[in-house]
Amino acid sequence: MNAIKQYIREDLRSVRPYSSARDEYNGTAGIWLDANENPSITTWNRYPDPLQQSLKEVIAKEKKVATDALFLGNGSDEVLDLLFRLIARPFTDKVAFFDPSYGMYEVLTTLNGLEQVRIPLKSDFTPDWELTQTAIQGTQLFVVCRPNNPTGNLFDRSKLLDLLTEYTGVMIVDEAYIDFSSENSLAELIDEFPNLIIVQTLSKAYGMAGLRVGMAIANPEWIAALNSIKPPYNISSIVQQEAIKQLREQPFSENRAMLIRERERVSDALKRLSIVQKTIDSEANFILFKVENPDKLYAFLSENGVVVRNRSKQLNCEGMLRVSIGTPEENDRFVELLNVFES
Ligand SMILES: *Cc1c(COP(=O)(O)O)cnc(C)c1O
Repeated sequence: MNAIKQYIREDLRSVRPYSSARDEYNGTAGIWLDANENPSITTWNRYPDPLQQSLKEVIAKEKKVATDALFLGNGSDEVLDLLFRLIARPFTDKVAFFDPSYGMYEVLTTLNGLEQVRIPLKSDFTPDWELTQTAIQGTQLFVVCRPNNPTGNLFDRSKLLDLLTEYTGVMIVDEAYIDFSSENSLAELIDEFPNLIIVQTLSKAYGMAGLRVGMAIANPEWIAALNSIKPPYNISSIVQQEAIKQLREQPFSENRAMLIRERERVSDALKRLSIVQKTIDSEANFILFKVENPDKLYAFLSENGVVVRNRSKQLNCEGMLRVSIGTPEENDRFVELLNVFES
C-alpha cells in the first residue's frame, strides 16, 4: 500500500470519479458537441476546466509549490469538507481540534457524522502539548489552525512537528492567515510527512473572499484522491479567469506589509487604552482583545457603524472582541471610537 492510501477511507479508495465530457477529450477540436452545452447566446455557455490548470499554474508560481501538489476548492471550506469526507468514516471516526479555533471544524465534524475531540488551549492560548499528544490518540484527523483564529497566535512549529511524527492520523494545518505571519508555511514539509495536508485560501491576504478559492497543498497522491471525489466543476469559469487576472495584477506584498504595519499600530493603540485589559499579540490580520464589558462596547461600536466580532462566549475568551485590520482610515475610526467609549 502506498504512503497515502492507508489514510483514505477504505470505501473511497477506488472511487471512479464522475467522468465529465471535458475529461474524456482534451485535444483541440473546434466543434464541441459532447457536453450538451448551448452552442450560442452567452459568453459562459461552456463548462469550466474541471482541474483549473491555468489558475493552478499561477497559484503554484505564487506559492512556490508544484502544480500537481495543488487542489482547488470553492473556498477552503469546500476543501476542508472534502478532506473530512475523504479521510474520516461517518459514525465511527474522531476529529480533534483546539478550542477556541475556527468554528467550521465543529460544523464539518457534525455534518459528516464524526465525533469531536476538543482540546482546550491554555489561558494564554498556547497548547498544552502533553495533553494534546494524549488527546489526539485514537483520532483519525487533527485540524490545526496556524495562525489560530480567533486568537491570532502561532503554535510552536517544532512541537507541532513532534506531534506529527508520532501521529497515526492525518494532520490538516489550516494556514488561512499564514501570509500575515512571521513564519514560513509548513507546505515545505509535505514530501517529508505523507500525513500532512496544508490548507490555504485566496480569501484573506489575497483579498478575494468574494471569489471563493481555497486550496490544499499536499502530496500529489492526496491531490489525485481529492480529484476523484470532488464535484466536477467546482470552480466557475468567471472565478478562474478573475483569480488569474487579480493574481497577475495586484501588488499583494505591499498590501500585506501595510496590513501588518496597521496591525502593529492598532495593537499598540489598544495596549495604551485603560479599558483594554489584555491584547493578544497577533500573527494574522485581526486582533483579539479583552475589555470589562464586551457586550456594551460591541453595541457602542455597532451604533457608530463599526462591526467587530464578539468572541466573549468562547472558551477562555471572556470579555473578548476580535477586530479585523481595515484600511488606515477605518482603523483610525475604530481607535477613535474606543477612546470616546473610554472617556
Ligand atoms: C477565513 C478562514 C478560512 C477561509 O475560508 P474560505 O472558505 O477559503 O473563504 C479558512 N480557515 C480559517 C481558519 C479562516 O479563518
